[in-house]
Amino acid sequence: MKEQPIKYNMNTRILIVDDDPAIRESMHEYLEMEGFHADTLSSSEEAINFLKLNKIDIVITDIMMLGMNGLELTDIIKKKFDTDVIVMTGYSAEHSYEEAISKGASDFIFKPIRFEELHLRLRRVAKERQIAKERDQILEKLKKLAITDGLTKLYNSRYFYKQLDLEIDRLNRYNHSLSLLLIDIDHFKKYNDTYGHLEGDKVLTRMGQIIKSCLRRMDTAHRYGGEEFTVILPETACDEAAFVAERIRESIEDERFSPAAGKEIQITVSVGVTEYQSDERISVFVQRADKALYKSKDNGRNCLSCLPEKSLTAKKAT
Ligand code: GH3
Ligand code: MG
Ligand code: MG
Repeated sequence: MKEQPIKYNMNTRILIVDDDPAIRESMHEYLEMEGFHADTLSSSEEAINFLKLNKIDIVITDIMMLGMNGLELTDIIKKKFDTDVIVMTGYSAEHSYEEAISKGASDFIFKPIRFEELHLRLRRVAKERQIAKERDQILEKLKKLAITDGLTKLYNSRYFYKQLDLEIDRLNRYNHSLSLLLIDIDHFKKYNDTYGHLEGDKVLTRMGQIIKSCLRRMDTAHRYGGEEFTVILPETACDEAAFVAERIRESIEDERFSPAAGKEIQITVSVGVTEYQSDERISVFVQRADKALYKSKDNGRNCLSCLPEKSLTAKKAT
């Protein structure tokens, strides 16, 4: 892959903090000339307020200032903001390079400032900042990939168990109800055998979209295995969960698939619905959803069943 040149100047916002106006102005002029966007302030207190309102990449701060000094400022910036810091000090100052770095500064520069040196240090800090950002983005993508099913883009089964654990934990703390749906496509083997695996995959992808479209923001849908899906419904009792299950069942029944020219195929699903019973193990909870699902299959498919039993009208395929 061709390496992209790093465009740091134009996109890098800098804040210069120094109580000496001559230094502030000369640095500002130099940095703007080099294509950076720079602001200037004369105290740490002003800088902190400014950072609350503005996204700054790099702060260049003097150490010796009235009020809060530059090292204390560095400490606060590193704790509260996503900003790098370069500290400036005179040769005779008591503060050391080690002190600045231990507060989290990315670099250190002596006064009087040599602009070429400042530029080189800024370039290095900006480059490292960009590399770190890209690394964070890649990590974020990898994390998402690890919990996502590639075909349907729903969460995968690994995430399902994590999420269920988390929701049961929440339920124990807040005494909410929690329900689970297990959804399985009816006679899907036949569809695959007739129209091919690729067409089957299209159905699975569309299933994911339909299921998602029937849920609230706090609900999560997962591909549990081959042609089985789970939905976790927090703060939902069994009868409300049955409504959601029915909405999903109906939406899928209403959809038409065209796996071959001139074909319009209806796909149906069977659903198991169950509500968490206090103190039970996750495996017992999931097994009950599975039993409810098989009850739906036994009842002729294209319907839902609740366990423990509720008086639901099981709807059969027409
Ligand atoms: P039932 O109504 O009893 O659920 O019947 P079924 O045919 O759906 O159930 P069975 O368990 O016999 O078959 C499931 C089929 O799902 C087998 C396989 O062809 C299909 N399947 C599982 N995973 C995938 C997948 O990733 N892609 C495709 N296209 N098909 C899959
Ligand atoms: Mg199955
Ligand atoms: Mg099936």
